[in-house]
Amino acid sequence: MNYRHAYHAGNFADVVKHIVLTRIIDYLKRKEQAFRVIDTHAGIGRYDLRGSEAGKTDEWRQGIARLLDKASASAIPQDAAGLLAPYLDIIRAENADGGLTTYPGSPLLARSLMRKQDRLSAIELHPDDARVLANLFAGDHQVRVTHLDGWLTLGAHLPPKEKRGLVLVDPPFEIAGEFDRMVDGLAKAHKRFPGGTYALWYPIKDRQEVQRFVSRLHETGIAKILRLELAIRPPSAEPRLDGCGMIVVNPPYTLEDEMKLLLPCLTNLLSEAKAGSFMVEWVRGEQVAS
Ligand code: SAM
Repeated sequence: MNYRHAYHAGNFADVVKHIVLTRIIDYLKRKEQAFRVIDTHAGIGRYDLRGSEAGKTDEWRQGIARLLDKASASAIPQDAAGLLAPYLDIIRAENADGGLTTYPGSPLLARSLMRKQDRLSAIELHPDDARVLANLFAGDHQVRVTHLDGWLTLGAHLPPKEKRGLVLVDPPFEIAGEFDRMVDGLAKAHKRFPGGTYALWYPIKDRQEVQRFVSRLHETGIAKILRLELAIRPPSAEPRLDGCGMIVVNPPYTLEDEMKLLLPCLTNLLSEAKAGSFMVEWVRGEQVAS
């Protein structure tokens, strides 16, 4: 397990993933009924952007720093700014002195949006990271941190007792076969918890591999699968993280239109030399003509 998210916290891919996450949770809060967020690859929850890891790559400067600058200068269209508010409010609260030195990871973002009836299950396999995460939420009875293989959760720990909620699957993609594991994990999880919303993050490095992944998702027969992508540059000759995607199963009915509004704006902001692109497409869903 070599992957350390501290090198990448707050980069463009985190920004996209975390905006989708906050839009889904914002929707779940429309009903009083409790929900659960299950974060299968949770990381450490809070990242120091002044730390040596973040400082080695400086990726956050092309991600969250750019977005926050534009938002602070009121240079984001008002309708998009309204949708970004739940996310950016948390970033600002984490940086109450007005600078940008701290970035919240997915479990902390989810926790910040939860009400008293909601719960978070955060799973992390790296022993050091699991310890840091457990300390972050020590004494918080709404959060359970588990040191475990997150893939097992998809087979065994579903459905949650709330019978409502979101499963975020965000593996590091450091070993071969993660795309296949994701499809297999989703198929298993969906059988146990068909009404849940699932958000699966993936890298866009090898576009043929992404296409195979999407075809396999289609073959699962799962009825509602939305594909969201943002690329910050055209395909590179060498494998590089040119973009990222989120597959959202059972998305809130609001998400498609929200992302059609947000992704053009984010693409403009986060792309290199304004040469990025985005996609909002149904892999399967009512809108797809088959
Ligand atoms: N979801 C986090 C966020 O958005 O803030 C970032 C997660 S990072 C991309 C992936 C994490 O998965 C790393 O912290 C890594 O240690 C952890 N990990 C790797 N393999 C795992 C496994 N099989 N089960 C659970 N966690 C795993």
